[in-house]
Amino acid sequence: MRYIGRVLPTPDDWSTRHSVQATVQRTGALINVLTGDAPDGTAPAPAAVAEVLRAHGETGPPALSTEDVSEMRNAALLLREVFAAAHVDDAAAALNRLLLEHAGPVRLTSHGGSTPWHPHLDRADDGPWGEWFLTSSCLALTVLVWDRQRRPGGLCASPSCRNVFLAQGSGPERRYCSRRCATRERVAAHRRYHR
Ligand SMILES: [Zn+2]
Repeated sequence: MRYIGRVLPTPDDWSTRHSVQATVQRTGALINVLTGDAPDGTAPAPAAVAEVLRAHGETGPPALSTEDVSEMRNAALLLREVFAAAHVDDAAAALNRLLLEHAGPVRLTSHGGSTPWHPHLDRADDGPWGEWFLTSSCLALTVLVWDRQRRPGGLCASPSCRNVFLAQGSGPERRYCSRRCATRERVAAHRRYHR
């Protein structure tokens, strides 16, 4: 089961946890845990990935194997191409490539009545984690591009960071994944200038 279970406090919560915004937030967090701190090309521990899934609404400890995490990491590396796009046109082209190569036909599921009806592009509800992660992310990013007509996010401009970030609302484009990275780079630039 890829979605939260039956214990849902409010009807609002029920639908917001399955919103496009919630899905892309989860996509960004998963890409970062799966590829952000792995310059040596190793996958993170399954527990670290499960922790992110739980933080984004998965109830109970998802049973992830190292193979599942390895597949999810491959998916994350593909999804990074969407975030590496400098312009919405390039992000759309990257998404089209991924959809063509990895997505099945659109179908609706309620996971046996335990979630609101929502679309999936993977083949089955109990399919591989990597396929689920890649297709659910592509679907949400596609809707985001459609809705906002701008690139869905970007790669952190800090050379020592590999994180992706999501564009926020209609404000100016951000360059860093976090305040921490922005501050670090501002301090580094200041030091370079005064050397
Ligand atoms: Zn960063």
